[in-house]
Amino acid sequence: MIIGIPNGLLNIKYRDAIQEFLNTIGFTTVVSPKTNKEILDLGVLNCVDEACLPVKIFHGHVEYLRDRCDIVLVPRIMKLNKNEFICPKFCGLPEMVKYSLDIKNIICPTITAYNEKTLRNSLYNFSKTFRVDKEKFKRAYKGFKSNIYKYNKTSISNPNLRVLLLGHPYLIYDDFINMNLAKKLHQNGVEVFTEDNIEPYDYTYRLIKKPFWTFLRSTYNCAISLVETGKIDGIIYISSFGCGIDSFSIDLIKKDIGSFPYLVLKIDEHTGEAGIDTRIEAFIDLLKRRSKNEYNISSLG
Ligand code: SF4
Repeated sequence: MIIGIPNGLLNIKYRDAIQEFLNTIGFTTVVSPKTNKEILDLGVLNCVDEACLPVKIFHGHVEYLRDRCDIVLVPRIMKLNKNEFICPKFCGLPEMVKYSLDIKNIICPTITAYNEKTLRNSLYNFSKTFRVDKEKFKRAYKGFKSNIYKYNKTSISNPNLRVLLLGHPYLIYDDFINMNLAKKLHQNGVEVFTEDNIEPYDYTYRLIKKPFWTFLRSTYNCAISLVETGKIDGIIYISSFGCGIDSFSIDLIKKDIGSFPYLVLKIDEHTGEAGIDTRIEAFIDLLKRRSKNEYNISSLG
């Protein structure tokens, strides 16, 4: 049987691990290509207008795969950390895909992965559906663990500036969606940090109430940790238009970092590259001026 792996949402980050797992338990896999114009158009055409861009793009990947494999993998991700919740769109993704695309050949394992045990159980339950024996499962799980994707930071000798690229993994690592943002920053001598490069401290105790959204906690902690330790010169937050979680995280971070340089890029399927380029160039100019003037000027320039 050939299983299709859509190259969107969190699959972008865990694709290699998923593929290794499925291959070891005995399936052939096919991964959709990196997001491109064709996939974007398929997603926009087939998904409800209200959905955020990453969800629309995921629909495009599934549509691309539907006739290229026997069954498409659309996981229902419930939790990645204890006492936290992931975005509701992940929990209802199978239903969205099924009814928007009118597709029957999808398989939707429920993934709860807030510790080693729950992750292992989720994958075990999935493999049990196909009567995979325990030994084979053990090997597959080991392969999965050793292939968890880590962002490969490009090293820059003597970077002028250091910027934290903040946002959900499927925005940070999808170069089509973010219009090669990391590459553009590297070309300007800016070193880029992402959440995967650091072990943030938990600063959520400073908030009135601990947020229960995983993405909100991780972006907030990551931003505050790096600003507090003085390891970065600025933050670029890349966000999808219509993302409810981001609407909180963007403001909570802004409130706590004061005048620290902070650029928010909101994107959707209509965003033009020229507009993004202009804003990045202006932001880099601002950071350069601040570093020359020993931080004696405001974050506005
Ligand atoms: S967290 Fe935001 S960007 Fe991600 S799927 Fe949910 S609404 Fe979309």
